Amino acid sequence: MHVIEKSPEFGEIGAGLQLAPNATGVLHRLGILEDVLAHAVLPARLVMRDALTGDSLISMDLGAPFRQRFGFPYVVAHRADLLNAELRACRLDSRITLEAGLEAVSIEDLGDAARVICADGTTYECDSVVGADGLWSRTRTLIHDDGPPVCAQAVAYRATVPFDQLPEDVDVEAMTIFVGPGVHFVQYVVRPGELLNQVAVFRSDAFRPGDEHSDAWGTPEELDEHFGPLCSRVRSGIARIDRARRWTMFDRLPIPAWTKNRITLLGDAAHPMLQFAAQGACQALEDAVTLGAVMAREPDDRRAFLEYEARRRPRTARVQQTARWLGDLFHASGGDAARRADMFAGRSPQDYSYVDWLYSAGGRW
Ligand SMILES: Cc1cc2nc3c(=O)[nH]c(=O)nc-3n(C[C@H](O)[C@H](O)[C@H](O)COP(=O)(O)OP(=O)(O)OC[C@H]3O[C@@H](n4cnc5c(N)ncnc54)[C@H](O)[C@@H]3O)c2cc1C
Repeated sequence: MHVIEKSPEFGEIGAGLQLAPNATGVLHRLGILEDVLAHAVLPARLVMRDALTGDSLISMDLGAPFRQRFGFPYVVAHRADLLNAELRACRLDSRITLEAGLEAVSIEDLGDAARVICADGTTYECDSVVGADGLWSRTRTLIHDDGPPVCAQAVAYRATVPFDQLPEDVDVEAMTIFVGPGVHFVQYVVRPGELLNQVAVFRSDAFRPGDEHSDAWGTPEELDEHFGPLCSRVRSGIARIDRARRWTMFDRLPIPAWTKNRITLLGDAAHPMLQFAAQGACQALEDAVTLGAVMAREPDDRRAFLEYEARRRPRTARVQQTARWLGDLFHASGGDAARRADMFAGRSPQDYSYVDWLYSAGGRW
């Protein structure tokens, strides 16, 4: 397998990544979980707090009962640490070759083969192609025409904070989400004793259709307006957020097919989702290991692709839609926020019934 990447090097922008047990089970299967765990953090609990008051709304115990239930831990890692573990494993496998600095500008379906043409003129005649080219996938346009990604009218600002500059009252053992009207704020340690990861998200009232790629909305001034009235723990974290760069949030609706002859899609190219469920990368990992398992026993790539997509589409569609629903739940205000509090009231930290369907896939491929 030959992997091409358009960036000059295989690298990662952004810091933290949550990896639920459905993903850590994949890392175990790939033989790289230990490598990732060497730099990662196992949070003791996942806590949702009211961003206005700071009060806890619900908490999930991620300790021994959780690991026993799902077989694998809930891990937060630095994206670069995960990528480096994956790269090391790929470089040790003689069946895989990696080439950075090569952008695919045309992917052609040849029926029983495929062709990839790159910006520098390099051309590959291939048995098959897996388009794992992200949210703005070029490969996807060949398979389904559903227009551009859907803008959620929300932006994320991120930052990592060294331990000697920790904001006020950080719970270093938890993965904490503060939720409030049109906003949420995430905090977790991403390298033990070293780095805290923070993500601040808000829905912008300044967004206008057609503004998807403009910096005129979702500005740092709006960030301050949205987060200024929140509890002191959130405000203290926001004071350390990086204002220089923001990520606009996009997703898409599920599509009926990912495969055309010997070309298929994987990860965000197939099923981009909002980040509220923290599952985009987890689902991409599930895709990869499912595709690998199917291709190992099905010699015909086209049949393998169709089986892979049949196994993966229903689940990823459910996660895409759950992520949208969670966005509304996180950002609820007024009566909806009160209903959210009622829904969570009295839940045991060891009640995992509502995440069973999502997390218990670890190890089943
Ligand atoms: C703020 C934020 C927080 C998130 N948090 C989490 C989380 O906690 N847990 C989680 O599971 N997910 C999370 N996600 C989602 C996760 O980052 C994505 O779902 C994941 O990165 C998708 O992986 P991918 O490999 O499919 O696509 P990408 O990561 O987008 O990778 C696609 C790659 O293809 C390359 N490429 C694109 N086009 C071409 C081309 N034409 N030729 C060659 N190369 C090309 C790109 O350069 C890129 O390296 C988060 C996302 C955001 C924005």
